[in-house]
Amino acid sequence: MTQYQFVKQPMDVTIGKLICLARTYTEHAREMQTVVTEDPLLFLKPASSVIFTGGTILIPSQSRCLHHEVELGVVIGKKGRHIPEAQAMDHVLGYLVALDITARDIQSTAKKNGWPWTIAKGFDTFAPISAVVRKEQVADPQDLDLELRINQMIKQKANTSQMIYSLERIISFISAIMTLERGDLILTGTPEGVGELKEGDLLEARLGSLCTLIVDVQKEPAP
Ligand code: MG
Repeated sequence: MTQYQFVKQPMDVTIGKLICLARTYTEHAREMQTVVTEDPLLFLKPASSVIFTGGTILIPSQSRCLHHEVELGVVIGKKGRHIPEAQAMDHVLGYLVALDITARDIQSTAKKNGWPWTIAKGFDTFAPISAVVRKEQVADPQDLDLELRINQMIKQKANTSQMIYSLERIISFISAIMTLERGDLILTGTPEGVGELKEGDLLEARLGSLCTLIVDVQKEPAP
């Protein structure tokens, strides 16, 4: 049971399930040669995939191609099911910047065969997250600059205003399927610019000036 870290005012909040969206930015859908859908596309990552700033993304022996995806994360503070859009933001505790690390080679095989993405998305260390910024400190979560630098070069840069779905819609949509609980984390999808990670890379992700996430990349040692 891992607890979130907070930018200010430490709190005890255990990390729950990670609900992730695919294709929430038009340009990313285009670069993946796919299309956006009317409803959000969801998949899950296990809480055991979370690491924090100072941690290391481990390249597992099963993959030869890890990709970075920088994303806005939404931490749920209040449990709910069938949450109306008008009340959705009452269920938010705060925001963070996250990386949805993806074994792109494994995912490509899964896509071709119609298999789930669980293996491609679920390895340990595949969900680096920053500390949480409480929502009271964020004027508009859908007007935040999202940026990823690798070895000091900008690789992904976008604004959360470019998301196809509103946070209200996303929260309402997910809660019509599964109960959202305090400590659950929604990864809202990545903008364009995804690319491959190499051993020794240093990643620095930012959500405006609110929070920063710094992790590096190494090969997983043999068990
Ligand atoms: Mg993603």
